[in-house]
Amino acid sequence: MRLLIANGYLIDPTQGVNGGKNLLLENGRVAALLSRGDGVPEGAEVFDATGFIVAPGFIDLHVHLREPGHEYKETIGTGTAAAVAGGWTSVCAMPNTDPVNDNPAVTRFIIEQAERTALANVFPVGAITKGSKGAELAEMGEMKQAGIVAVTDDGRPVSSAGMMRRAMEYARGFDLTVVDHCEDRTLSAGGVMHEGDWSLRLGLRGIPALAEEMDAMRDCALAEMTGARLHLAHISTRGALEAVRRAKERGLPVSCEVTPHHWTLTDGAVEGYDTNTKMNPPLRSRDHVEAVIEALRDGTIDAAATDHAPHHPDEKALEYDQSPFGITGLETAIGLAFDRLVHTGVIGLERLIELCSANPARIFNLPDRGTLREGAWGDVTILDPDLEWTFDVSRSKSKSRNTPFDGWTVRGGVVATIVRGRIVYLRDEEPSIVGR
Ligand SMILES: [Zn+2]
Repeated sequence: MRLLIANGYLIDPTQGVNGGKNLLLENGRVAALLSRGDGVPEGAEVFDATGFIVAPGFIDLHVHLREPGHEYKETIGTGTAAAVAGGWTSVCAMPNTDPVNDNPAVTRFIIEQAERTALANVFPVGAITKGSKGAELAEMGEMKQAGIVAVTDDGRPVSSAGMMRRAMEYARGFDLTVVDHCEDRTLSAGGVMHEGDWSLRLGLRGIPALAEEMDAMRDCALAEMTGARLHLAHISTRGALEAVRRAKERGLPVSCEVTPHHWTLTDGAVEGYDTNTKMNPPLRSRDHVEAVIEALRDGTIDAAATDHAPHHPDEKALEYDQSPFGITGLETAIGLAFDRLVHTGVIGLERLIELCSANPARIFNLPDRGTLREGAWGDVTILDPDLEWTFDVSRSKSKSRNTPFDGWTVRGGVVATIVRGRIVYLRDEEPSIVGR
């Protein structure tokens, strides 16, 4: 099986490639980067990428696929269909399923189910503690053998500093990155939105920025003490970004990700009490959003991740106080990155691609991903920076509909997604071409 992606503009930060090139995929792998004049290799199918950007396949470090246990919200099949429609060739599956992915049997189930039903590559992330309850370490070594790529208790913080220290020492022994959900629950308890002027005005209980900042500072210090690789998930506050900046200056193996909603929306969006503005960490005030944008610009932020968190409409129909935290995000992320970051001049195209491919592959140590080097997996994301499109949630591939971005028109989007050499999403002709 040969596929030539012809006449595109290829950007691969891992090789310093930034120019007109043809890309040849063969048997699911990258076979060669060719000059545009080299012609079509024998037997190759041709994808004409004239006017498009060709990038290493995008990797989302933070996705809740909900299977096993919450298939009424999402499945590995529907979640990865949404992923490829959003340009993501790989997703890292958070462990807060039912049962929690805290042992190799659950890890193996996810991998086998993905082999049967997934359009994107699925990399399971294991729990730090059993049941993510914070009391007893999970079976990291056995899970690593079964295929996990990192550990986290995401959805919950590891409250005890002593437990986090032991987790980091243990994870370091297995060469696993520890992914940190930063939230000091003694500060955030009962809160449903960012604590500030808007929470006062709306009469909703607030979550102070310090809840995130305290844990970020604590765990950067623990990373220094233990030498573990630490990745801070969905960072949303100025102070946490400052902690990451300082850790990096000291040469610590600390990285962080941000989500599209935290660079796009402020806590003002909660006015009207739409539960699709309720997520954890919450939408922050303008000062924090500006800090996120500044950290995207100056390189403090390593990765863009969605924190795709589907919930059933009945759950999101509850009152603001009662509804669960989380929004979907796989299909809107790249459009929001183009529209709010690239076209506004915050970051360049190469940096966008690095945030979505090369850096995530490095952070979770995914060999042969996030690059178009010869021999790497044939995962490719094809982008049109000038595509103007409107997100219509009724056509979402996700099982859930909980997004604040329904009806938004953005400039820049995904044209095609290729996983292991096979076209799994094509904007214009889908779904006819899918699965051929
Ligand atoms: Zn989280």
